[in-house]
Formats: sequence, structure tokens, C-alpha cells
Amino acid sequence: MADLPLAALLPRGSAVAADGRLSVGGCDVGELAERFGTPAYLVAEDDLRSRAREMVAALAGHPGGGEVVFASKAFPCTAVYRLFAEEGLGCDVASGGELFMALAAGFPPERIYLHGNAKSEAEIVAALAAAVGHIVVDSADDLDKLERLAERDQDVLLRVTPGVEADTHHAVATGHAGSKFGVRLSDAPAAIARIEASRHLRLRGLHMHIGSQLFDLEPYRAGLAALASLGSFPVVDAGGGLAATYLTDDPAPAPEVWVAGILAAVSELMGEGVRVVIEPGRALVAAGCVTVYRVETVKRNASTWVAVDGGMSDNLRPMLYDARYEAVIADRVHLTGGERCRVAGKHCESGDVIVAEAHLPDPRPGDLLVTPATGAYVHAMANNYNGVPRPPVVFCSDGSARAVVRRETYEDLLVRDA
Ligand code: PLP
Repeated sequence: MADLPLAALLPRGSAVAADGRLSVGGCDVGELAERFGTPAYLVAEDDLRSRAREMVAALAGHPGGGEVVFASKAFPCTAVYRLFAEEGLGCDVASGGELFMALAAGFPPERIYLHGNAKSEAEIVAALAAAVGHIVVDSADDLDKLERLAERDQDVLLRVTPGVEADTHHAVATGHAGSKFGVRLSDAPAAIARIEASRHLRLRGLHMHIGSQLFDLEPYRAGLAALASLGSFPVVDAGGGLAATYLTDDPAPAPEVWVAGILAAVSELMGEGVRVVIEPGRALVAAGCVTVYRVETVKRNASTWVAVDGGMSDNLRPMLYDARYEAVIADRVHLTGGERCRVAGKHCESGDVIVAEAHLPDPRPGDLLVTPATGAYVHAMANNYNGVPRPPVVFCSDGSARAVVRRETYEDLLVRDA
């Protein structure tokens, strides 16, 4: 496939003016940086909404019906939960904290799925008390707890590890035999029998999630075939995993292609009448957000180092997954080429490199540097390494901007002192 233009990495609705200035959601990035400071996560609200609508539309024609469930670990903040609740999506939560945020945002409990390979009793109690729609059983120990704690009927799915290898970073491959998630295919019949015999648990179907940042549909088909071997159920949850586009030379499949592939496999292997749940995270939120930083220093030695006022505290993905990003300078986006640079953060670690290779036109201290496609697992994994306060999340739409998560302050760094 031909390389994409750089603009394809920016949130939908972004624009580059004739003088090279970038705007997101109708807001000039330079003005946003003045108003909200740097670093900041800038989210084009309409981008998130349009991607949600595309996923829903892709699933809409399936005879058995289906549901798009936002895997909220990708971007867990109240405003994002609220946005996807408004779009009619379901929501997957992987902890009591995510459940708390989803409920605080007004997510209808019946559209919430509770996940987790190590759910505590307290998390299960909270989910039962909230009357979440589904709890995804991950192990025999989960079943012990659920059987003990459920006092009324509860719909559940059983997460099965189908034993497929997905082509992705090992840290986000989850469908292989030996994964920490789900029950083995060979253990599934006993778990199914146990749920079917339980007093309050209602087995709606099977679940798999084979990995994240996936480009290939074949492992989904293989995984669904494994699930189909376990019997017929009204629902199948094929998990998330659709890749996002981070680099111009590595475009991700379109959501409708991904959904069509899953639906075709389900129809063929399980029947058209089976309800299909999908749980995209990254594909809904990665592209709609950019991070804007201020360049603090430019140093030339064996490399040209462009060091910014953030780094591994606001984006851990390059360090955890060797994730690659591109970068542009916010008022010179129209200039192509430029000097080959490494974009470093401000942290006390040599691994704190957020863009291993960028081409920047005459980078200077004071420039605003933008990394596209930072909506997924970025704010979600932000931390306070080196006592760096976490950035705000700013929603931009139709030329107006509002902070939906404020910037942390130095005082916030002391609030948990006991
Ligand atoms: N569903 C489950 C159970 C997951 O664990 C994850 C990610 O870890 C997802 C969905 C979302 O994956 P992605 O963001 O790749 O779509």
C-alpha cells in the first residue's frame, strides 16, 4: 500500500493553514498551547464520535445483531466515557476504578462489561451492586467468587484463550496458549458446565481477545473457529485489537473491513443468528488525539536531540512496546523533509525517547512539537516519574476548546501524603 500523507495521521477535521499552522477541532494549536500550557493532550471530539458511528454502522446489518463496546482502558477519563455513552456504545471496564469512572460518567450499567484476570471480591461486589450487564469470567477462581457473591441472576460470558498467535508486540498478545488471560480451550467445557449448573449465573456466550494493534484478520478467524468447537451460544464477543495508524508507512485496516471479517467468520462458523460483540479501544481513540509539547533544547552530537517538556511520564508506549510515532512542528507542518532528529523527553533516563526518528524543519527551542495518534494507552498510562505533573486533556470541537481533565499541579503531588 502507498504511504499516507502526514495529514492522514492527524485527527479528522484538523487543518494546516497556508502559513503552516496546525489546528485541531477548529482550534489553533499555538493558541491552545498558550491557553492550556504544554504538554497537553488535544482531542478532536468529532473524530472520536465519527469513529464510534463508523463501528456501529459496520455492525448494523448483522442479522443476529451486535454491540460495539468501548474498551475503556485505552482512554479512561470521564469525558471520554460520557462521549461514548452518548454515542450508544457499550463499555468494557477492567477494574473497579474503571467501573467507578464509567458509572460516574453516567454509563448505563446494563451496557457495561466487567473484565479482569484478577478480579477482587470488592470489584465483583461493586459490579453486582451496580447491576452491570455482563461479567466476563476469566478463571475457575472468578467462578468461585461469583457463585458465592451473586444474589440474583447475572449474565456472564466465559473468556476462552483460543490458542492463536497474533502478530504483535508480546506484551499485547493475549490469545496464545499460556496467556494469563481466560481459560484454556481444554478447560472450557468444564467451566461451561459449571456455569450452566450454577444458581444465578446465566451463560450468554464466549469471549476472546487475541491481542492489540493487529492488522491481520486471520487470527480472529482461527480464534472464532476454536470457540465454535465448544458449542452454540447466543452471543460471541470477539474482543478488540484493531490496529491504529501511527506511521504514514503503516496504515491500519479500515474498521468496516475488520468488522466485516469478524462477521463473515462468525456467520460461517457459528451461524448468522449469533449476536456479535466487539470491543475496540485503540481504533476508537488513538487517532483523535495529539500531544503538544514545547521544545526546550536542541542538542547536536551523534544525533540531533530535540528535547521537549514531557516524555515518558505522558507517553510510556515507546518504552513499553517500542511504539513508534511521527512528529511535526505546529507552525511549520507544511514544510516537508527537514533534519533527522530524535525527540527526547525531560526524564532522567536514556530510554526516554518518544520519537526515535522524526524529520523536523529547523527545530528550535520554543517550538511547539506535536505527536499525532496519542489517544490510546497514553493518557491512560501517564505517571508522575520525576515528579512531573500529568498533562490536561483538552476537548476541541467547532473552534472551541475546554479542559475535561485539568493539568496536575505540584500540590497534587502531595495530596496522598499521610
Ligand atoms: N478487550 C479486552 C478484553 C482487552 O484486554 C483489550 C485490550 O487490552 C481490548 C478489548 C481493547 O484492545 P484494543 O485497544 O487493541 O482494541
